[in-house]
Amino acid sequence: METIKNQTVPIVRGDGVGPEVTASMMQVLDAAVEKAYAGSRSIRWMEVPAGGTAYEKFGTYLPEETIAAFRQYHIGIKGPLMTPVGGGIRSLNVALRQGLDLYVCLRPVRWFKGVASPVKHPEKVDMVVFRENTEDIYSGIEWESGSPEAARFYDFLSKEMGVNKVRFPETSAFGVKPVSKEGTERLVRAACRYALDHGRKTVTLVHKGNIMKFTEGGFKKWGYELAEREFGEEIASGRLTVNDCICDAFLQNALLYPERYSVVATMNLNGDYISDMLAAQVGGIGMAPGANINYTTGDAIFEATHGTAPDIAGKDLVNPSSNILSGVMLLEHIGWNEAAALVVKALEESFGEGCATVDLARLMEGGKPMGTKEFTSNICRRIYGTT
Ligand code: NAD
Repeated sequence: METIKNQTVPIVRGDGVGPEVTASMMQVLDAAVEKAYAGSRSIRWMEVPAGGTAYEKFGTYLPEETIAAFRQYHIGIKGPLMTPVGGGIRSLNVALRQGLDLYVCLRPVRWFKGVASPVKHPEKVDMVVFRENTEDIYSGIEWESGSPEAARFYDFLSKEMGVNKVRFPETSAFGVKPVSKEGTERLVRAACRYALDHGRKTVTLVHKGNIMKFTEGGFKKWGYELAEREFGEEIASGRLTVNDCICDAFLQNALLYPERYSVVATMNLNGDYISDMLAAQVGGIGMAPGANINYTTGDAIFEATHGTAPDIAGKDLVNPSSNILSGVMLLEHIGWNEAAALVVKALEESFGEGCATVDLARLMEGGKPMGTKEFTSNICRRIYGTT
């Protein structure tokens, strides 16, 4: 396969701490690519607008050119974006995910030695969560209590569907939870392929199908059927195991026996809770990377999972690791694994020696607190091998 020498990466700096974590991530990735390929490959960063700064300049939070750039280059990376208050767009992140139909929210969760954790054995946490991104109760199909729409919806439920289980119909709000066969299949397919490509043996379908029999139960049933149909050979030969777990049990087990789980495939709401709980087990919000991916078109947007942290913005305090690790996911996505490995090694070394931003260093034994810029230079030095 021909080596791509220059990879264009559209980039949204983001709001609040976004410009700081973005600058850090770019510096670290550039260093890793230079070190790994000695100048034969490079990243061309292409800044595209979104969020508060885009609104100030162009009067829109998400200019069409930004979506067009992500579509053209199939990848991109973004810092956190503020959620606009008031009318218009509900959430920029949701708008981006929907605009590109990025149906997988991918969240790898691992622990770095040295990082403080609330659990006894954080080293046993090594999971990759495939969270469905386009369906479920998250679809935004809901009506406010007391609205004419809620009344009309209840009318339909009671008169046409014979539903008489709503305890307080006058004051109930209603939400709809669509879960489809196609939506489930593309998510579970992506999870199984990922497991096989990355030498991970188990895919666990996490659901609440014992209670929500047709939606979450459907997810489980369609997931197993897809796995058997498309990965039957790998399952029969023992290369892949597909099992399932009820979500409440999973949340307990992931704390008690995290080593039992490797790739987790789940629906939108369960995935939201699971990703954040697992992130907390390995050091919290500044450490968890993420990506939103459409495995059919190949479109992927990588992002830090924390918000704009307005309380520390511009103070050189933010931990850029979440964005740096999202950059690592990007490098792996385009097959630049050597550069990705250099970044991971530098982070491992740094945390192992207690060198970290204040949020982590203050909880580490012998921690050496660093500002964002100092931490970034320290990672780059380790990549170049000059520390
Ligand atoms: P937040 O993640 O911005 O901050 C929560 C707390 O964690 C704050 O005390 C902050 O200082 C701290 N924190 C967050 N990231 C950190 C890091 N990397 N290093 C050190 N400390 C860090 O959540 P919030 O305050 O609820 O949200 C602020 C804004 O961000 C809102 O507008 C929200 O909608 C938006 N948001 C965006 C995204 C995204 O773009 N992916 C995600 C979540 C929230």
